[in-house]
Amino acid sequence: MNEKILVVEDNPQNMRLIDMVLRTRGYNLLKATDGKEGLDMAVREQPDLIIMDVQLPKMDGLEVTRRLRSKPISSRVPIVAVTAYAMKGDQDKALDAGCDAYMSKPIDTRALPELVGELLQKRSEVVN
Ligand code: MN
Repeated sequence: MNEKILVVEDNPQNMRLIDMVLRTRGYNLLKATDGKEGLDMAVREQPDLIIMDVQLPKMDGLEVTRRLRSKPISSRVPIVAVTAYAMKGDQDKALDAGCDAYMSKPIDTRALPELVGELLQKRSEVVN
């Protein structure tokens, strides 16, 4: 229980919203505000799931995802991409980079925890 979720998000308002939505459901949150910090933290802390903003300073979320997928330690952690642009091609790009799912901003405060719950459930079925 108390799965560890890493949130990589540079927008303070979105970070606060995601924090509120997930913390009230009992998850332990780790936070990073740029791509490099997110990459380092993901490797060091090995979270159970990652919420990845796509537009990030220093390294964008898709590049972070590609790098995580190339490392055995993080090749299978569920990653949810979040982006401000609801364009069709962006979803494909996120999935091509190795993300498991995609959400567009503004964050749907009901759909996000549902998706997180589903992905964690799927993950535990694979592990056990
Ligand atoms: Mn951003």
